[in-house]
Amino acid sequence: MIARVTLDLAVRREFDYLIPNEMEHNVCDGTRVKVPFGSREVLGVVTALLTESPHGNLREIIKTVGRQALVTPPILKLVRWISEYYCCAPEVAMKAVLPDAVRKEEEGWRERLYVRALPQHDKLPKLTKRQEDLWSIVEEWRELPLQELVRLAGTTSATIRKLEDKGLVSIAPQISERDPYAKEHILPTSPLELNDEQSVALRSIVKAIDCLAVSKDNAIDVKENGVFLLHGVTGSGKTEVYLQAIAHALKQGKGAIVLVPEISLTPQTVERFKARFSQGPLQTLVAVLHSHLSAGERHDEWHKIRQGRARIVIGARSAVFAPVEPLGLVIVDEEHEHSYKQEEAPRYNARDLAVVRGQQEKAVVVLGSATPCMESYYNVQRKKYGLLSLTERADAKNMPIVRIVDMRNASRKDKGISIFSPQLHEAILQRLEKKEQVMLFLNRRGWSSSLQCPECGFVAECPNCSVSLTYHRAAQKLMCHICGHIDSAPTKCPEPNCGNKSIRFSGLGTEKVEAALGKSFPSARVKRMDSDTLKRKEDYRRILGDFRSGKIDILVGTQMIAKGLHFPNVTLVGIIHADLSLHIPDFRAGERTFQLLTQVAGRAGRGDVEGEVYVQSFTPFHPAIQYARRHDYIGFYDQEIEFRQELRYPPVGRVALLTLRGRSEDRVRFFSDHLRKEMDLLAHEMGDVVIAGPAPAPLLRAENFYRYQIMIRTPRMPQLSRKLSSKIDSLQIPEDLRLIIDIDPVSLS
Ligand code: ADP
Ligand code: ZN
Repeated sequence: MIARVTLDLAVRREFDYLIPNEMEHNVCDGTRVKVPFGSREVLGVVTALLTESPHGNLREIIKTVGRQALVTPPILKLVRWISEYYCCAPEVAMKAVLPDAVRKEEEGWRERLYVRALPQHDKLPKLTKRQEDLWSIVEEWRELPLQELVRLAGTTSATIRKLEDKGLVSIAPQISERDPYAKEHILPTSPLELNDEQSVALRSIVKAIDCLAVSKDNAIDVKENGVFLLHGVTGSGKTEVYLQAIAHALKQGKGAIVLVPEISLTPQTVERFKARFSQGPLQTLVAVLHSHLSAGERHDEWHKIRQGRARIVIGARSAVFAPVEPLGLVIVDEEHEHSYKQEEAPRYNARDLAVVRGQQEKAVVVLGSATPCMESYYNVQRKKYGLLSLTERADAKNMPIVRIVDMRNASRKDKGISIFSPQLHEAILQRLEKKEQVMLFLNRRGWSSSLQCPECGFVAECPNCSVSLTYHRAAQKLMCHICGHIDSAPTKCPEPNCGNKSIRFSGLGTEKVEAALGKSFPSARVKRMDSDTLKRKEDYRRILGDFRSGKIDILVGTQMIAKGLHFPNVTLVGIIHADLSLHIPDFRAGERTFQLLTQVAGRAGRGDVEGEVYVQSFTPFHPAIQYARRHDYIGFYDQEIEFRQELRYPPVGRVALLTLRGRSEDRVRFFSDHLRKEMDLLAHEMGDVVIAGPAPAPLLRAENFYRYQIMIRTPRMPQLSRKLSSKIDSLQIPEDLRLIIDIDPVSLS
């Protein structure tokens, strides 16, 4: 037999190897193997078994890795789909589906010494008092790690060895699982009684799970194709619907994957799932996959899934590849989040892969959001997805009142515009008096957005990127938010002919807001949360913990504080500068602003007191702001879709973004023109393709690379992908340039 293998090497093709006789039974599709390659030995994954190969002189597989195939057949199928649709080499797609911790040649399990009580038939041998005490502990536990016993009994391992000599216990190495949540104490919960809207939603999902379970491959007969958009306002009880839908999948003998944006994957979130399935007839392990786990924890969590012991998986983007079998349900919470898109090859979107996987494995997919992305709602309108709506908060709380403050009229002082409008200032004062909590949001960290000389117009810019440097006062430095370049902050204008001493900082960052709060509300306890203040991984939890327990009155932060957090005592949310995201050069600017405002506003009034939101804006009548004020998603969608329709932007058309980058702008520009001609030929073959560019990327220069872009729009992306792939293979891209193909990009910068 012959195995076709995708190697862990960037070679853009697969290789065939002979399977030695003694391995025949161990090698199947998805087995991880070690093979010779030139003079080296490399790892890879078997993707197919063949009886003959077009190649001669095949070499033999050296060894297999792991006790079972690491890549399951459904995941292999997904790998092929990714490679085709996202125009990437098979090994690139394969890299995404196995965590690094699992790919290694060594097994990766942690072995520890365990002490086990041996059955005693006769009278116990004679023991000293200490040995007797020790024995009674072992007898009670029956089995426990040696180190644990040393600690419990306050003894030494030598004493324990004495028990071994007397035939009372055995001491042997054993695999010990690392549990990232071992220290948490979780109280079990039972299902809540659903309100009418929740019941309707759950019934539809349950029905689809049952339908898909009985449908034969060639007779899928669910009206929709088993994908639902669960559109529910913040606090409408989406999570409770997820939990009960998962319970149904488990009853049917199937497992579930829950995708959550990395930033919302808090212990709180995980706990809600663990608590529900920690006991009772549906008891199962809940595995968690995210980037904060140690490699060892990741390894163990993954194998719990692969071995079928954990039937529920919660994780960020890459958890979409979790080898749950059979898969009954995939949930994508906050499905509009851009973090589901991987910004390096393979450039997949986990939300879209969830839908593909659902179709391939006959699993129901539920996309949940208070502000669904345009793509998902468009699919509802075209009857591709079923719509489930939760229009009211489950806890019968009102939606917060949103007030827009027109900053064009706000009082001006100190030459600049004050950070807090009089309205917001007054509102903060009142909330502080009542001992309620406040969150202030600004999507820019640092002190100021730029350093400018009012005399000669000099602006401090990054030497590597086409952006201005941000001043960070605590560090006393200028920093680039793209490449991390750091400069000292000048005290006078560095232009040789100028030297003006009153060089000014303009624009706002969170650091400055924090300082202004200190001045305006001196007795308030203020804390800032952005990537500058979070140095270690516990910081995030600690700050949120302090806020929850009331040790902080005002929390200032970037988008980090916007997502899915639940603080009952927060009654006021202030958005300092709502226009920031409106002015980014991207057709999704309006959509992103609407989503962001709605999400931030959703943080207010989750407790007993009604919430209030102040949105400060210089363009108060922009539709994204006005519809967010009225909590009117459909209104926003209807006007936004018109603009997308007109320009054939997603979701009406689909986009492939080709970015060419290199150190010489001339070379990049020259080759982009050549690329454009090639794309014109391709467009001619396909017919319904619109090409724009090449044009400098919105951020022309980043980390010293110049970038030019070509945007291709088409209603038929799979066809375009296929043609692009074969074109790229024949294209001779010069060594000093790199071509990046991004299918369905979520950001154009
Ligand atoms: P979402 O996920 O839509 O933001 P959650 O599931 O977090 O909303 O629900 C918000 C709050 O309402 C939670 O405290 C939850 O326990 C509660 N809740 C959800 N469903 C119900 C219900 N049917 N009855 C009572 N409380 C509910
Ligand atoms: Zn830079």
